[in-house]
This record gives sequence, structure tokens and C-alpha cells, in this order.
Amino acid sequence: MTHALQYATACFEGVRGYYQDGKIHLVKLREHQERLKNSEKILKMETPESVDQQMEIIVDLVKRNQPKSGIYVRPFTYMSDEQIVPRLYDLTPKFACYMFEMGDYLDMSRGMTLMVSSWRKVSDDAMPTHTKASAIYLNAALAKTEAHENGCDDAIVLNSNGKVAEGSANNIFLVSGEKLITPDLSQNGLQGITRLCAIEIARDLGIEIIERGVDRSELYIADGVFLTGTAAQVAWVEKIDGRLIGSGQIHPLAAKIKDIYFAAVTGQEKKYQNWLTIVDV
Ligand code: PMP
Repeated sequence: MTHALQYATACFEGVRGYYQDGKIHLVKLREHQERLKNSEKILKMETPESVDQQMEIIVDLVKRNQPKSGIYVRPFTYMSDEQIVPRLYDLTPKFACYMFEMGDYLDMSRGMTLMVSSWRKVSDDAMPTHTKASAIYLNAALAKTEAHENGCDDAIVLNSNGKVAEGSANNIFLVSGEKLITPDLSQNGLQGITRLCAIEIARDLGIEIIERGVDRSELYIADGVFLTGTAAQVAWVEKIDGRLIGSGQIHPLAAKIKDIYFAAVTGQEKKYQNWLTIVDV
């Protein structure tokens, strides 16, 4: 009867920890927990634990598990009551988290094959798209399943205006000449933390980033396309809707961002050390 199970009255985060030399490097832990707190606020699910307390619980979880490889941490907040009225008041939100060992979510050895899904991304006037509300992931699951059944790795979802919103659970970037283009947040994509990492790396490389509405047909003629996400990391795209993207190889600009990202999250790029919460395991 748990309310969260019946009505998806929950929100969550996904945090990666990269293992290197006896240490787990949790990537942007504070930013993830701040985003969870924002989800809690928007969804009227505020838990007593502060961002700092949630971070301490996660660090403790990692220490107790002593992982010896990369991990994925799933912190979440859920309505814990056995109650059948779909509502957000007079309920008890609780915070919990678990972790498991995780390698690559998408196959990183090749480019992704994507399709534009027939499922549109929910609009912020139907479900708050600035949250990681569990309910929104039925939308993502439908898009991902349609892609899978059509022999693709993942889906690109358009918003209700027909503009590109994001991937099923990742953000999207287009390379156009020496510039990067990515949908602005009013297109109903999530503000991805990996998206912000990619933007920071690109700016540091002197690359111009344009955040604006993106048309479907722009995808096909981009010089390169890549996805970003905690699970997906930085994944380059080979084909969209049966059309080869650019040369059909990883674009050098995407390759550069990907390499710097991996160096940063494994603690090998001093410049981005402040992204990491380091736990001895
Ligand atoms: N969009 C959606 C819908 C997602 O679920 C995710 C994964 N959290 C992302 C984008 C990428 O966000 P992040 O880089 O914070 O993982």
C-alpha cells in the first residue's frame, strides 16, 4: 500500500563514484543533493535531513560497503505512508539510499544509434520537469522501450512544441563547426549535472556554447552529437533515425570533452578536484 509505489510519489538522484587507488570519487555529490532538495520542495516532500546530512549518510554508505570498483548511488525520497488518496499533503516523506557496483550504462566502445521517439517529453505544466520525479520516468521508460524495440540504443524526446528536449535519461549536445549547441532548459529537459560539467569543460577550452531551441532536422546535419548523464557519462552518437551523424566517428571536440571528463571524475585532473567528494575505501 506504500503511497510511493501506488502513485510514484517519489523523487531521486543518481550519483556515480569512480574507483581509483583505494578511493571512491563521488562526482558533484553536493549538486546532486541540492537538486534532490529542489525536487523535494517542488513536490512537497521535504525531509528533515539537510543537504549536508544526506551527503554524510551517502559517504557513510560508501564507507560501510568498501567497494573496490566504480559505483552508482541512488538517493531517493518517497511518500512512505500506506494511504490510497493521490495527494501530496498529510503524508510522510522519507529519505533513503542504496548503492551498487556499476560499469558503463551504455556501451562506450562504439557510437550510439538513436531514434526520435513518438513519445513527447512531458511539459512543465503537466509534471514539474525541473525535478527528478519518479513519475516522469514512465515517460522515459516508454521512449527507451520504443527505441529498444526498434533496434536503437536510446531515444531522443521532443517536447510538446516539437523541439528537442533531451535523451530518455540524458542531455544532448550538437557540435556545429567550432560551437556546441544544446537545448535550453525551457525545452523541458532536466538540468543535468553532467551537462553542467560538459559546459564547464567546453568553456575552459574556449568553445562557445549556445543554449537554444533545437529542431529535429538540425540533429541530422550536426557535425557531431553526444549525450551526457551520470549513467551515460559522455556518449557519442553515430546514427539518428538511420542517418549517419557527421563522419560517423566521434567528433574531435566530443572526444576532447569526454577525455577531460573521465580524467576529472577519476581525480586525475587537478583543475576539477572541487567536483569530487573523496572517500577512502
Ligand atoms: N535528463 C534526464 C531525464 C535524466 O534522468 C538524467 C539523469 N539524471 C539526465 C537528463 C542527466 O542528468 P545528470 O547529468 O545529472 O545525470
